Amino acid sequence: MFGSENVHVTPGMQQYIDRNTEYLQRRAQYIRDVVKKWKFDTIAVHGLYSVQEAIEDYQGAIIEPVFMSSSQAYRDSDEMAAALGYLIPTWCYSRIANPSTYYYEWMLALLEGYGFDGETGCCSTSSGMAAISAAVQPFLVHRTHNRHEPRNFVATAQCYGGTFQQFNVRLREERDIECRWVEDPTDLDQWASKIDANTRFLYGELPSNPQQGFFDIRAVADLAHAHNLPLICDTTVATPALLRPICHGADIVVQSATKSLTTSGFGVCGAVIARRDIVSNIDNADMKADFALYIKYLPNRDYGPNLHPLQAILTMNDMRTLRSKMDLLSRNTMQVAEFLSRHPQVESVQYLGLPNHPLHELASRYMWLVDAEYDDLYRKPVNRYGHLMSFCVKGGHEATRKVFDGLQRIWRATDLGRIKSVATIPSISTHQQQGEEGRRLAHVSDNMIRLCVGGEHPDDIIADLDQALNRLRTRVAVGRPAGVA
Ligand SMILES: *Cc1c(COP(=O)(O)O)cnc(C)c1O
Repeated sequence: MFGSENVHVTPGMQQYIDRNTEYLQRRAQYIRDVVKKWKFDTIAVHGLYSVQEAIEDYQGAIIEPVFMSSSQAYRDSDEMAAALGYLIPTWCYSRIANPSTYYYEWMLALLEGYGFDGETGCCSTSSGMAAISAAVQPFLVHRTHNRHEPRNFVATAQCYGGTFQQFNVRLREERDIECRWVEDPTDLDQWASKIDANTRFLYGELPSNPQQGFFDIRAVADLAHAHNLPLICDTTVATPALLRPICHGADIVVQSATKSLTTSGFGVCGAVIARRDIVSNIDNADMKADFALYIKYLPNRDYGPNLHPLQAILTMNDMRTLRSKMDLLSRNTMQVAEFLSRHPQVESVQYLGLPNHPLHELASRYMWLVDAEYDDLYRKPVNRYGHLMSFCVKGGHEATRKVFDGLQRIWRATDLGRIKSVATIPSISTHQQQGEEGRRLAHVSDNMIRLCVGGEHPDDIIADLDQALNRLRTRVAVGRPAGVA
């Protein structure tokens, strides 16, 4: 597998292969018989790092060690040849793999695969953008010797600004790979009408950043599969604690683990998580059988978007409490959204949790706090919608900037997913580069503020928003029309 056809196996190499085959079988059994039976919280706390493994291999360290080492040494040439031929599990060189990122990858593979009865794998990346690039590139290869072979893919227009740029500039403008935007992803006919023989994959972000776009994952996955295409989902905003697309038929998930998965905000990282045996019209059996391992061992080895081991462990420490954090942050956001929807200076609020949001019902079919039925606070399934929302300010762009500049507790930053509340104006930050037409496609208006509510007491966040919004009212009192700066 993975390009090892050319490797000549010596008897010495065969001994290493046999020993490692045994190890892999033991690991698969541990996952199947032990880890897969745990609840979500237990997987998030332990992942694949066990007491036994710690004592035997890592001097009993209760936290996964940070392997700040560029490469791995081998006992002899047989072990080295088997390792570099990918005939045994190995980490070789930290651009390819590393023991710290290994535990991070397993934790994410297991969390995204929670409730899914097949196998999932994960490949860590240096950022969310690197994860998107690593996930889509294998489908964009030439299938024929015709270098001008047309290639396209279909994606939701409501997406993160960086994704828009990667698809629209790097792929479409620079490489002639057509991105066909779906403006209303709830309309299945729109998806269907854009698929043809040259389509390589369907891509959807949900809930979308910042507009809270959403779609019926099951229906879009079925449509993709009917055309022999994979569905790739970006569920960064939801995290696996609220939504796991692979359970609903998606083939691949990309995560900007920078965001809610690393609530502390220690740095940037990403991940590609895939089920086994994905659907694709590309003739590459290894790629389809284990997509995550394939990109890790081949394209990412050659492109080098690897994650630093220290960042992997910092993020893992954040993920251990993911479920309870996403519950708290979602509840706080709900209170803030309700407050904003009643505020006279607010034109509209976009939050899937609000019952009057047009996509509330659809989102409520998919967004559940994992294991709420086993939580003694709830004892039944409960919907949670995450901590990203946006709202539009009355009075246009200048009024919006005034409110934004008046925030005192909420941080002004192009960031989200933090334990601290953070706000931005997408039209001048995350969605600035894509221009007016791109923003119209993505439903980003210039009076929109994106707000990601943190773990502060919601009363304090509401008070901060109230005083900032009321700066507009003062203008009304002195006789000028609302919003005219
Ligand atoms: C931030 C973000 C990305 C990009 O991730 P980075 O880690 O910043 O590279 C991709 N998708 C979504 C939804 C995001 O919010």
